[in-house]
Amino acid sequence: MSASDPRLERLIDRLVQPESGVHAVLLYGSGQSPIRHWMMQLVSMWACKQPTATGPCGECGPCRSENGGVDVQIIEPTSNPPIINLEMITEVDRPVKWEGVPVRRFLRTPPMMSPRKIVAITDFDRANHRASNALLKTLEEPSPYARLVLTTTRISRITRTIRSRCLCVGVPEPLISTGFWSKTIESEAGQECLAELDQILRNAVDAPDGAALRTGDQLRKWALQWQKTMEVSDRAALTDLLQFTGDWLSHTHPERYNLRSAIQESHRLMASAHPTLLLDVLSMELTGSSRS
Ligand SMILES: [Zn+2]
Repeated sequence: MSASDPRLERLIDRLVQPESGVHAVLLYGSGQSPIRHWMMQLVSMWACKQPTATGPCGECGPCRSENGGVDVQIIEPTSNPPIINLEMITEVDRPVKWEGVPVRRFLRTPPMMSPRKIVAITDFDRANHRASNALLKTLEEPSPYARLVLTTTRISRITRTIRSRCLCVGVPEPLISTGFWSKTIESEAGQECLAELDQILRNAVDAPDGAALRTGDQLRKWALQWQKTMEVSDRAALTDLLQFTGDWLSHTHPERYNLRSAIQESHRLMASAHPTLLLDVLSMELTGSSRS
């Protein structure tokens, strides 16, 4: 596994053992990105046919399918306002706008490819009262093959009954300097710069959409600082910035294909577009990334 948290890696390894007896996990913490990362790790371990102690096998059908394949369902709050409502959890007797399969119906049939059927619900603090109650029934009598993972950055808003039916796992903020970037950059000053970039990116994905301009400014300043620290051209500094941001995203938001293609697009645009514009566009994508 890529991120640097042996405690969580061991925990996830234990959770995929048949004797774990855990059907539902609630991941909580202060950072959207690390929570998201570990949610996807857990989902892909549960979905994998032959998980190893170091992670999913990477070769089976579910591993090669986008987001873990047909036996995985990821539910996020609707966008405006962000809410998890009853129709996402169970069938309701009225026409609904939401196009997904309700959790209870999804879990009614056994898995097709994976050893389990997996539901991940992000930001469960956004669930309204009725949705929360409906999910409780599933948590109380889960099918043997059902696995659920809920996430929240506001644990206090999750009802006590939901919490008591889940294994609650705190996700710490990772220190990126001990992570994957440090392998590529040796100098201490360079690593300090990268820790700063990590902070900017994490703030950006957790920020409201309106924060895009501020993020753009921060990225511009960062590129300037990088240019001086590493003694590279301004073009090279920008290329590095895009590269690092792409790496960062594939670790923290592996499910965000759109955003990664936006970065590739930025790479392409670099030949013609003004760098300032480029960073503003990137920032707009970033600040919307934890919700869209
Ligand atoms: Zn696999």
